[in-house]
Order: sequence, then structure tokens, then C-alpha cells
Amino acid sequence: MNQPSPTAHATSANHAEDVLTAFRNEWKGGVNGVYIQRKAIPALRWLHANAPTHEAARVIGEIERRLALYRQLTVERRKTELLELAALVKSIQSVFDPPAGPVHETGKLNEAVAPGRATSRPPVPTPRRMLGPTQHFPADPVTKLPKIGDVVAKKLVNLNVTTIGDLLYLRPRRHIDYSHTVAISSILGFDQPQEVTIGGEIIDIREIPGKGAGRTVMRISDGTGWVRATWFSTFMAKQLHAGDTIAISGMLDVGFGPPSFTQPEWERAGGPSLSTGRLTPVYPLTHGLAQKTLRNFTRAALDATESTVIDFMPESIRSSRNLVPLRQALESTHYPATQSALAEAIERINFDNLLLLQLGLIKRKHTTKAIAGIALPAQTDVLTAFFETLPFTLTGAQIKALGEILDDMSDGAPMNRLLQGDVGSGKTVVAAAAALRTIASGFQAAVMAPTEILAEQHDKNFQTLFAGLAPDLRPSVALLTGSTPARRRHEIAAALGEGSLDVLIGTHALIQDTVKFNNLGFVVIDEQHRFGVRQRNHLSEKAHGLRPHHLAMTATPIPRTLNMVVHGDLDVSVIDELPPGRIPIETRRYRGDERRGAYDLIRNEVRAGRQAFVICPLVEESDTSESKAVIAEAERLQNDVFPALRISMLHGRMSGKEKERVMTEFRARETDILVSTSVIEVGIDVPNATVMMIEGADRFGLAQLHQFRGRVGRGGERSFCLLLAEDVSAEGDARLQMMEDSNDGFALAEKDLELRGPGDFIGTRQSGLPELSWLARGFDTRVLALAHESAETLLADDPELTQPDHRALAVKLREFWESASPDIPLI
Ligand code: ADP
Ligand code: MG
Repeated sequence: MNQPSPTAHATSANHAEDVLTAFRNEWKGGVNGVYIQRKAIPALRWLHANAPTHEAARVIGEIERRLALYRQLTVERRKTELLELAALVKSIQSVFDPPAGPVHETGKLNEAVAPGRATSRPPVPTPRRMLGPTQHFPADPVTKLPKIGDVVAKKLVNLNVTTIGDLLYLRPRRHIDYSHTVAISSILGFDQPQEVTIGGEIIDIREIPGKGAGRTVMRISDGTGWVRATWFSTFMAKQLHAGDTIAISGMLDVGFGPPSFTQPEWERAGGPSLSTGRLTPVYPLTHGLAQKTLRNFTRAALDATESTVIDFMPESIRSSRNLVPLRQALESTHYPATQSALAEAIERINFDNLLLLQLGLIKRKHTTKAIAGIALPAQTDVLTAFFETLPFTLTGAQIKALGEILDDMSDGAPMNRLLQGDVGSGKTVVAAAAALRTIASGFQAAVMAPTEILAEQHDKNFQTLFAGLAPDLRPSVALLTGSTPARRRHEIAAALGEGSLDVLIGTHALIQDTVKFNNLGFVVIDEQHRFGVRQRNHLSEKAHGLRPHHLAMTATPIPRTLNMVVHGDLDVSVIDELPPGRIPIETRRYRGDERRGAYDLIRNEVRAGRQAFVICPLVEESDTSESKAVIAEAERLQNDVFPALRISMLHGRMSGKEKERVMTEFRARETDILVSTSVIEVGIDVPNATVMMIEGADRFGLAQLHQFRGRVGRGGERSFCLLLAEDVSAEGDARLQMMEDSNDGFALAEKDLELRGPGDFIGTRQSGLPELSWLARGFDTRVLALAHESAETLLADDPELTQPDHRALAVKLREFWESASPDIPLI
């Protein structure tokens, strides 16, 4: 192909190539228009005159027209314009190419025989040689980037990076400020270590073998003085030589001796500065990938997507919310020019995530509301009769929540509500009242819980609550779990099918195909975050005809500000008041040696016939190491601390069946102490347990500690929550103090959000929400409110996002939610 050919086609090909070369030089030369004017336009004129097809002439005409306006564009816009026009040139280049065949081969042959000739004319560009770096799409695999092969790609998977887009969105854990470049002479004025950059020439460099990897020591001069730099490896000595010019960034130590850096970042002068002389990103690491390597990768990802990242944000929102363009935001999250550029970039990405989240949730909510539901008659008489049978009166918070639920059931749209209330706040009776109304109206109700024990508990509670009703009003209740014998199953199935069974309570067993309701009108899902999105919906789908009312319940208090993020598609009711007369749980802290006091307390309680939970410290790494910790702790307690007591344990490596068995034994008082990981069954009722001891308490979030605490104090006895922690930080200390001071789950959750960010609340895999790792740090309720408002406005104006200005957003929205729950259609 490199062989000049006498045909007109080949001459045309030269001219097309000239245009591309001109674009390339224009790009490199600072997009000032010079190469366009002098080179590109004349070549295009020739091509226009000699175009072999109408189509080619039309395209060249368009390129010429656009180039006429080139100088009017901003510098940034000029670059994208060049890329787009280059693509146009390439699209018609083939019609000018010499025909394939003998000419082609001769070219190759000649090239092979006389390689020198290859330079006689510019090669037909492969994409790699195009303007700047080759462009790829964010969805392309990372292996398309230079220097990323399969081995490296595998390592990147550990950082959840598989596509180029993942690299773009890989969030640095922080940035170190090396933007301060100083003259060495000025260092003499420093009286304490500082993070700085210096640039200079290597005076000498020495490799010092020694323990481990040895050392490299060098001196660098910038003409105003010299500094010393040391690395604990001889690798540097092999790469650098005296006389090389480099930049060095790090903490400059100005103590004893000459100013020196230990293990500083370094880069050769003249290359891109990714690690020195700037705000330098620090990425989460994985084995075998150095910071510097990751920086090269993110740089390469940014460069390779310069023309392919589409800013999906409608211009109206971008300008009204003062958002920086997406391309700029991605650049600045990695390589910001200033701290404020970084802040703006993070705000932009967070806004994007929150907007996409809100759009999806609001759409879901609208979709549900549009489905036909069941308008239930009020049934005031039945409910009044029910309340009269109860041994207590409802709290104000219960009445309010129930009122909201009953309202939802009246208006013909299906209810889709979440009932949030602290452990013991009395959610069950509220759900039971709503079930009663459903049943009195001739429909059936289902209650699903995540474990057999919880399901049994609900069964017992519902039976008790309904026991006082007159027989003609009293609903029939049955329990269905994995352990239900086949005969009983058949009975239940029959009663359910003919409609003589009113309430079916159970586990996942409820969603089996064999379970068929006669006319399901109300579905309650307890601890709904423990179920996958699919499972939650599955039960409702068992209704034939109208969609049943849906009530999810959770004892996990979520800060109100976060409800919009996590439960934006649901209406939310909150029970924020405990029934009167509860004995508050006494929370006590023990540090260091004081743990004996905690052990004594447990011993005394067991002697008095009570039981205790022990929670092992949170172990980050894995299920396995957490389980090991539990086994070790149980052994230690058995051998060294409580040799006379019966100890059992619960951890993540046990099967569901084993766990159930251990819990059942504990409830039956066959063991005294249950040692567990943090997976301990939420919502489990062991009224006889009066002690909850938590090891390494400072490592848990307040909301979670509060959950643990809620496991005790369920009988009428005085109960204790013992918080054990050693070497607690001031911040950890303050949090534990709050546990002592407050028994209010919502207040603690708010505090948790403030202190630890939203990670504890939105990180759950089961949530059915898209990946929100960005929000897990630096969540900002102000941005959430703005995103929510923008989402509402957008959807009110264009519910299906079909307007031209919204199309890119619609595409992005689908992608965003598909990544979360691929099997659940968003719309
Ligand atoms: P949770 O919200 O944790 O599910 P429950 O519904 O199990 O709480 O209620 C805990 C206990 O409080 C139950 O024994 C229940 O009968 C009782 N209870 C519920 N409401 C009240 C009330 N208003 N006054 C007194 N006791 C109540
Ligand atoms: Mg409950």
C-alpha cells in the first residue's frame, strides 16, 4: 500500500492522507487553525473536485463547510471537531483507495525488499496513529488499552475494573498535594517536614545492596542546592542515571543532615506528570499493581475516551445545577488542577448517580401507582373490635403509621409502603390490623420472613393477637416453612386454594410454585432487605387479577435523609416511639482489663437462669476469617473463662440448617452463651437472653450496635449491653459514649451517617440498587435534594425521556439500572 501508484485513485488517497496529517499536526500544534488553512483546505478542495462518487463529494463538502467555522470554536470544541472530521474523512477514504489486488501486493513486496522506501510517503493511518491516542468506548474492555494484557486485567478485576469506563470511574481514595514545587534553596527555610515537589538533575546515584531488597540513594540538584533521596529497593538505580532530569515528590524531611526524601514519588522530566508536581491520586491497591501503574492506566483510559465519553446530562440541568461537563469531571476526579476542581468533579459524579437513582425510583413508583389495585372497604367495626381485644392501646406512632397504611388500602392504587420501626416498637400489631381489614373484605394475606425462626415467631404473634376476636371474625392462620411436613403442606395448599385459609405465614417456601392463593390481597415482607428484589416481587405476582397491597417492614433504622436514596420507590411510615413501660437496656463499656467485670456479669446472669450473646469483632477480610474468629473465641471462652457453662456458636460458614438448629437450641435454653459473628439473626426473639456482649465494639457502626442491643430486653427482665473495646480512638470513644447515652435507633442512625458516611446503609448487595460506591464517601444531602428535584421536574415534563435533549440520559438510565438488577426491568 505504501507504493505510490500512477492511478488517479492513489493520488486521491494521498490527498485524503494529507488531510489527516494536517489534522494531526493541527492537534499537536495547539489547534490554532494554521494547518487547517494551509494544508487541509487545499487538499480537500482537490478531493472535492476529483471525488469518484456523489456521496464522497457530499461528505467532503460537509467537511469543508465545517472547517470554515473551525476558527469560531473554542479550543476544546476544536479538538472534538477534529476527531469527528477525521472520522468523516476516514469514512470516505476507501473510495479513493487504490483497488485491492496486485497493486496492493506489489506495494507490500516492495516494502519488504526495500524498507527504506516506506518512509517516502506517510503510511495509511492505522487508528493508533490517528489524532492523539486511539479512541475507545467506555464499555470496551481494559485490555484495549496499551500495556494491559490478560494478566494485568485479572488483577484489575480485584478493583472491580473490567472496562475502560470502570477505570474512568475508579475513585481515588484521596489525593496528595504535591502541587507545591519549590527551589531547593528555599527548603532551608522549612522548620518542619512538608509535602513538596522539586525538579532537578541527578548528581549521583548509588545502589546499596543489603537486607531485603537493598537501597537506592541519589542526590539531586536544581542549581540552587541539592537533596538526597532514598528508596528501599535497587530498582531505581537500574532505571536512572547521573545526569537524568527528574521530578521528585514526597514528604521532605528537614531534620538532621541534608534535606532528604524517603521513598518519594518520581518521574522523568518531560513526560506527563501523574505522580509528581500536582494533586496526585492515590488509588485503592490490589496485589501486584503499583500506584504508578494505576495512574498510567487511568491516564490512558482518559486519553482513550477523549472523544467517546458522552455527556448525557441535558443541558438545561447542567446549567441550572452548575455542573461541570462530564469529560472534565472525569479528568478532575483523577488529575485535578486544583482542590476546587476536584470538589466540583466529585459533586458532578455524585449528582449523576443520585439523579439516575432518583429517576429510576420515581419511575418505578409511578409505574406501581398506575397499576390497578384493590380498593378495600374501611371495615371500621372489625378493627374497632380488634383493638378492644388487645391488652394495650396503640402508641401515637403506631396509630399514625396504621392510618397511613389504611389510607393506602382505600384508594384503588396498590399500596407499596415500608414500615420502619425500631426493634420492639410494635410493627407486628400494625401489620396484623391491616391484614384483618384485608381478610374482612374477603381477601387473603401473606407474611414472609427471612428465616424459619422469624416465621414461627410471626405465626405465634399473629395467633395471639387474633385470639381475642369472636370466632366469626377471627382469621385462620397457618405456617409454611421448609420444615413443614408434606401432609401439612397439602392441607395448607388445599385450604389456600379454596380460600378457607386467611393468613399464610412463612419463609421463602411461600414463593414456591405449588403455593396458590385463592385471592391474595395483602403481602407483608419482614426484614425486606434480607430478600432479593425478585423474591420480594414474586409473592405479589401470585395474585391473579389485581395487584395486592404491599407492606415491607424493617427494624433497621435509616436516617430520614437516606430514605429517598434507599427507598425512593416506596412510601415510608416510621414508628419512632416505643410502647410505654419498657425497662431500658443498660449499656455499659469495658476497656482493657475491665473485661473481667463483663464476664462476672454474664456468669451472674447465667446463674440466675438467663442467657447471653457474644458478638465477635468485625473482621474485614472474609467470611472464612470471621468464622475462624468465632470458633477461636468460643474455644477461648469455653476453656479459659466459662468452663462450667454451655457455649454454642453461629457463623457464616454454617449452613442455613445448622444455624437454625443452633438458634433453636439456644431458644430452648439448651445452651447458655451463643457466640456469633455479626450475622446474628436480626429480629430474633429470645426473651430469656439478658446480656449482649460485643467485642471490638468500636469497629461497628452505631446503627449496627443498636441492632445487636435490640436482641436483648425482650422479656420483662433487666437487660444489659456490654461494649468491649481496647485502644479506642477518640472518635470511637465518642461513638461508644453515644451508645451509652441514647436508646433511639433513628438518632443513632443519623449520627452514624454524620460520622461514617452512608456506606453502612447503602452498601447492601441485596438492596437492588445500582452500584453506589461513589456515594459511600462524601454523600451530600444537599446534592441529593437537588437531584431529587431535577428528577421530578424532568419526569413531569417528559415522563418517558423521549425528547431529543433527554435521549442520552434515557440510555444512560437504562444502563445504570441494568447493572443493578439485570433481571428486573426498570420500566
Ligand atoms: P417489632 O416492631 O420489633 O416487630 P413487636 O411487634 O414484636 O415489635 O412488638 C414487641 C412487643 O411489644 C410485643 O410483645 C407486642 O405485643 C408489644 N406491643 C406492641 N405494641 C404495643 C403497645 N402499644 N403497648 C404495649 N405493648 C405493645
Ligand atoms: Mg418484629
